[in-house]
Amino acid sequence: MVFVAPRDLTHAIRSFPMLIDGAEVGDGGRRIFARRSPAHDVEVTRYPGATPDDLDRSLAAARRAFDRGPWSRASGAERARVLHRVADLIEQNQEELALLDTLEAGKPIVQARGEIANAADFWRYAAGLARNLHGEAHNTFGPGTACMVMREPIGVVAMITAWNFPFVLVAQKLPFALAAGCTVVLKPSEMTSASTLMLGSLLTQAGLPPGVVNIVVGEGHDVGGTLISDPRVDMVSFTGSTRVGRTVVESSAKTIKKVALELGGKNALIACADCELDLAVDAALHGFLFNAGQCCQASSRILVQDSIAEVFTHCLCEAADAVVHGDPLDERVRFGAIVSQAQLGRIEAYVAEARRDGITAALPGGRAEAAAGNFYHPTVFSPVAPGARISTEEVFGPVVSIIPFRDVPEAITIANSTSYGLSGAIWTADLDKAFEAATQIRAGSVWINAWMDGFPEVPFGGFKESGLGREGGSAAVEEFTEMKSIVVRYGSRRAKWMPGVKDHATPVQAS
Ligand code: NAD
Repeated sequence: MVFVAPRDLTHAIRSFPMLIDGAEVGDGGRRIFARRSPAHDVEVTRYPGATPDDLDRSLAAARRAFDRGPWSRASGAERARVLHRVADLIEQNQEELALLDTLEAGKPIVQARGEIANAADFWRYAAGLARNLHGEAHNTFGPGTACMVMREPIGVVAMITAWNFPFVLVAQKLPFALAAGCTVVLKPSEMTSASTLMLGSLLTQAGLPPGVVNIVVGEGHDVGGTLISDPRVDMVSFTGSTRVGRTVVESSAKTIKKVALELGGKNALIACADCELDLAVDAALHGFLFNAGQCCQASSRILVQDSIAEVFTHCLCEAADAVVHGDPLDERVRFGAIVSQAQLGRIEAYVAEARRDGITAALPGGRAEAAAGNFYHPTVFSPVAPGARISTEEVFGPVVSIIPFRDVPEAITIANSTSYGLSGAIWTADLDKAFEAATQIRAGSVWINAWMDGFPEVPFGGFKESGLGREGGSAAVEEFTEMKSIVVRYGSRRAKWMPGVKDHATPVQAS
């Protein structure tokens, strides 16, 4: 086991204001959220929590900014200019933003830098889409009739994000909503709000008008709950657990809002006997240890063909044991801390139950006792039955289940047997087999001889209880629009609607 003990951190505590109607809002007697680094157990950041009045002002500002403009009426080119400026500013502040995500989420600094660069790329991609948002036209309804289908911004969007990729999750939503002309009230996770609050000041520097983006801090059930149920909000875009996703749907139903959901996963990586073993093991390793397994895309189920199950398990345990983990500020570290004591407790409970049920831990893992922060060593269970709780529920930690299978049809049945449908993969030398499997895996992303490859150009989202809608891809901006159909009659076809008049318009579809 290669564990780098967290250093004694003496870090100046940084405070971040909220952004409401273009103004910075500091503590002013508000409840203070103080975040301790989960790796070093020292306080690193502070921010004020939104009061009911703050929320009301944020929602009013977003509504006013949408209804009066200018952002909602700006040209695509004008919006693109601002989005490109934001991307420039993110790149200029990469190191500081990365440090904030590392200190608050416990992720390795090398990984956090990559995430900030990736986020800037999302902003640039969205800027390109802002100039290409268009509808369609019809001229095939006979003479004197034309129809245009316009794309209009949907309105005020409430955005709520999770703690595991604080800056990137925002970048997968916000620039696309802005490209469409929407206005936003954004609530990041109360545990990792700093980089999003810092983004607020970058948005102002980039020239985004007041009220277009408002960033508030608070806990889910009160601040998040208020945003979801407020009638001034037209759409909710949520990233988080399936459990909370369900309550988002319920609360938004009262005012019939559009809802986009990016939720949990229990993703299966299928390794066939003819796969390139060392690469498949490496993909499995990356899949279950990336972000300490606190990743919706984690390959938390590895389905391995019987004949290679033993050697695969051996190689994966050996590789997992050799990964450098520990202090996320150390440049060598590849996976860092668990975000909170509560999350650490959840992981321990799942592992304890699996052990009680007699499932063999091929790599025992467990809590890193000597460390100041929240660390958990890689844990590999093998063999695991497909229906066990550890292999069907989202553990959200560096814990993996190896499930043996006989043939590919059985592997696909197992892969599809959970309530989730976020992602999956097959590793094989046989491309016919690979494509066949890819079409049968019920998930929004499927990789062939790869894991977790993603690009802003490629849509991302879940089947089944993993979500609704898609982020990324050329349609990502359209998610934040309404379609409006405008039918024009011209020339002699401008007939009255009268019974008996032969040449009248076909009535609108019966409703
Ligand atoms: P969570 O559902 O507990 O919280 C997510 C966000 O929702 C937070 O900002 C939280 O404050 C807020 N929230 C909590 N209760 C709320 C309520 N009743 N009403 C409104 N908002 C509420 O999830 P988490 O623990 O922060 O994140 C981990 C989960 O997120 C995992 O299940 C993971 O798979 C999922 N996730 C999914 C994706 C994806 O793209 N599919 C990406 C990242 C994380």
